[in-house]
Amino acid sequence: MRGARAVRVGKVASVQKILEIIMTAETAADPAAELRRLADVEIPAKYRGVAVRREDEAMFDGLASRDKDPRKSLKVLDVPTPELGPGEALIAVMASAVNYNTVWTAMFEPVSTFRFLKKYAKLSQLTAKHDLPYHVVGSDAAGVVLRVGPGVTKWQPGDQVVAHCLSVELEDAAGHDDTMLDTEQRIWGFETNFGGLAEMAIVKANQLMPKPDHLTWEEAASPGLVNSTAYRQLVSHHGAQMKQGDIVLIWGASGGLGSYATQLALNGGATPVCVVSSPEKAEICHRMGADLVIDRAAEGFKFWKDEDTQDTDEWRRFGERIRELTGGEDPDIVFEHPGRETFGVSVYVAKRGGTIVTCASTTGFMHQYDNRYLWMNLKRIVGSHFANYREAWEANRLIARGAIHPTLSKTYALEDTGQAAYEVHCNTHQGKVGVLCLAPREGLGVRDSAKRAKHIEAINMFRGK
Ligand code: NAP
Repeated sequence: MRGARAVRVGKVASVQKILEIIMTAETAADPAAELRRLADVEIPAKYRGVAVRREDEAMFDGLASRDKDPRKSLKVLDVPTPELGPGEALIAVMASAVNYNTVWTAMFEPVSTFRFLKKYAKLSQLTAKHDLPYHVVGSDAAGVVLRVGPGVTKWQPGDQVVAHCLSVELEDAAGHDDTMLDTEQRIWGFETNFGGLAEMAIVKANQLMPKPDHLTWEEAASPGLVNSTAYRQLVSHHGAQMKQGDIVLIWGASGGLGSYATQLALNGGATPVCVVSSPEKAEICHRMGADLVIDRAAEGFKFWKDEDTQDTDEWRRFGERIRELTGGEDPDIVFEHPGRETFGVSVYVAKRGGTIVTCASTTGFMHQYDNRYLWMNLKRIVGSHFANYREAWEANRLIARGAIHPTLSKTYALEDTGQAAYEVHCNTHQGKVGVLCLAPREGLGVRDSAKRAKHIEAINMFRGK
């Protein structure tokens, strides 16, 4: 079978040898041929990964969420290389990115992710390996395939890949129309172990996608989770099915999800109304090509009078502001994820017959909204979660074609992942925050310089270059 071979675990082999081959490929006339040599490299017995430890689960007990500091709970550990099972692939991770789920794991909120690992481990002999006293996190990766397990035919050692984070078993009929409906659907690196914020990672082979050849490792790693999520939420028939001319209200429009939602709206002929909280973030939205931006901080929007009471006058003021920007139109789609703080106003401002599509509740899960505005005006609320393989593939294809661009603003070393997660926790970041795993520096991995040159301004948009 192509590429399938037993994993030889070398006692003395180190990730250094793997890196040497990948670095030689950087300047080789035929990088792909050079990378095929990885098929013969010994797999190191251990590797470095960013993890939380079960022994630290109670470290933040009694603290408010804002005071739970990911720098304290995320550690770089030396961990043993797990055994590769059927349908899986071991990848050398050149770069990864911080997602908000890493922040949730690092805070042990809303529950400790060790609960997910324990449950997953009970499923089968193959999944038992996930239940460990440490959880290597990370749901994005760009790198190179080192080994594939039995039954994998589409990928082989040396393939340059990005990984999406949908892990499914598909034994149940439920997931066969839409894999997100699989009863054993999980987010890799959040609800499974061996995630992407590490030198190596284990994925299912059906998480792999070709790495866009005009991007660096860190740029290629950064869209994965959020771009796929925004694609399903906004574009897919499983989400809001955005069409040309739609007005799309986008919360957090310069953040992880929002920066892709804004680009998808513009690319799809819709008009985004971007909501942000600083002039710098507003400027980023303008740079992406959005004309209509609301700085919620500068304009003083405050949708709650106190913990329990929403301010409906503020809902009205916000709706009027949107109409002022759009020439009198209400949003066909509201792209929701802040949750409790904004959900009431999101339902209120959506157009008659419009859609509020939600994938998260960063500010609280217990939403309150006035149902009269929903039913009397025939609006609908759609729940959305990550993306199936096909949707993730389409989202990655848009990146590869240069239609949507990575929104990487900053890159950290693996050792500094805690700091990177802290910035996302404090909402002081823009777009995506990247992490170099095996890559010794930024800027490596580009295979098509001509395509890159064509899109360089957009690629650098979030880096202030
Ligand atoms: P992010 O990069 O931190 O961006 C979130 C943005 O939300 C911030 O930039 C902020 O923008 C805005 N925001 C924060 N508090 C707000 C408030 N009180 N009112 C209005 N806007 C507020 O995070 P992300 O990667 O986009 O993820 C956002 C959420 O979605 C997280 O909870 C994450 O776990 C979840 N998520 C879910 C899925 C899924 O598959 N279900 C996938 C990806 C992410 P401004 O301050 O500029 O307004």
